[in-house]
Amino acid sequence: MARSDHPSARPFLPDKRNLKSLAEAAEGCQGCPLYKGATQVVFGEGPRDARLLLVGEAPGQQEDKSGRPFAGPAGEALDRALEEAGLDRATLYITNAVKHFKSENVDGEIRGLKPRVSEINACNPWLQAEIEEIQPRIVIALGTVAARGLVGRAITIGEAREQWMQTKWGQPLIVSFHPSASIQAPFQERRDRIFDALVYDLERARDALNEPRPQPGA
Ligand code: SF4
Repeated sequence: MARSDHPSARPFLPDKRNLKSLAEAAEGCQGCPLYKGATQVVFGEGPRDARLLLVGEAPGQQEDKSGRPFAGPAGEALDRALEEAGLDRATLYITNAVKHFKSENVDGEIRGLKPRVSEINACNPWLQAEIEEIQPRIVIALGTVAARGLVGRAITIGEAREQWMQTKWGQPLIVSFHPSASIQAPFQERRDRIFDALVYDLERARDALNEPRPQPGA
């Protein structure tokens, strides 16, 4: 069992690892307190040979119910952006930095909450294991929670966009907006700009799949 002062999923990872065994083991994860308030774990999905791996924040309410990442409104926005960028979702591996839904109940209304740093860190062994299994050519962080899980420190999207970064495990990394920002930001003009930026970043990743390995900072 994980120590409560250093929550971690690591004790729950299986010895024999593949996407199926990882997903099954994650169902029993108690590496941080989030499993207590969620319906089920939401593990990543996509083909083993995916060259592009997308990482979101954490499951939302609809993902918590369906058990699939990016199944709600943010997923619909992501699907639109992928289509505009000429990417087929079926060829991508899509996951989240945190695998259980975090929420609060406000007067009977369930609201999603952003995971704490300790929860992102606790869940990091699952993300690392997924990346080790897929060995993607390029990783895309959708939002700052994903970026923290992949880089290991706080970064702003403004700081990171439009340059190549690197995950802490060595893969070329693009940091972009979470699709939910393109539907939740105030003002239509801002929402449109975020959506266009997301499409632009997905296009950069698509184009880079067939080019020499991008160098950090380029
Ligand atoms: S959020 Fe991650 S570390 Fe926490 S219980 Fe769920 S799977 Fe385990």
